[in-house]
Amino acid sequence: MHIPVVQKVMKVNDELAAANRQQLLEAGVVALNFIGAPGSGKTSLIEASLSQIGDTLRVGVIEGDPETTLDAERINRFGVPVIQIETAGGCHLEANLVKQALSQLPLKDLDLLLIENVGNMVCPVEFDLGEMGRVAVVSVAEGDDKPAKYPKLFRTADVVVLNKIDLLPHVDFNAARFHEYLVRVKPGLQVLRVSCKTGEGVDAWVTWLRLRAKTGLQAPQPV
Ligand code: MG
Ligand code: ZN
Repeated sequence: MHIPVVQKVMKVNDELAAANRQQLLEAGVVALNFIGAPGSGKTSLIEASLSQIGDTLRVGVIEGDPETTLDAERINRFGVPVIQIETAGGCHLEANLVKQALSQLPLKDLDLLLIENVGNMVCPVEFDLGEMGRVAVVSVAEGDDKPAKYPKLFRTADVVVLNKIDLLPHVDFNAARFHEYLVRVKPGLQVLRVSCKTGEGVDAWVTWLRLRAKTGLQAPQPV
């Protein structure tokens, strides 16, 4: 019987996630979980955010990847506290890994914690990390059918960043169809169109982020 084992793993994860959330709440840190496919531009979005935020908010970053510290090295250039979690091939972050990362971060000195999950649109959605909100990152190069194929990612997201809009002239992305699928999954979900390459839309995204940093000390919606 596999089902009881899976349930037990999720129960342990949920307990650790609740403890992480409590720790973050007590420190006054708003944590956001960035979920999207490899190459959707999650790290670039975090870089663009840090670049614009500068020292107006105290931001920390947790990077999740199967191997390497490449993304943490990119973030480290901004002079913010960053922890790389290497999952040793694992395809998602879990609360217990984030717990270890939290113990190495100066939480009392942070307003905002950006957690970049392992690139994957499926199982990261299932694992609560203790975050207060989720950002779904999807690039136009991936196609317009993603909300239909991966509904739970979008259903549990607080906002969608539609990234790489500078590529729209070069790819077959039907924006109307994308929005139609999205409305079926979660009516009213906000979509921010961004190009981290040209900077288009980054202002609106950072405005969302600042508002969330101010108001986001609350539990996420149940998944
Ligand atoms: Mg990355
Ligand atoms: Zn996984």
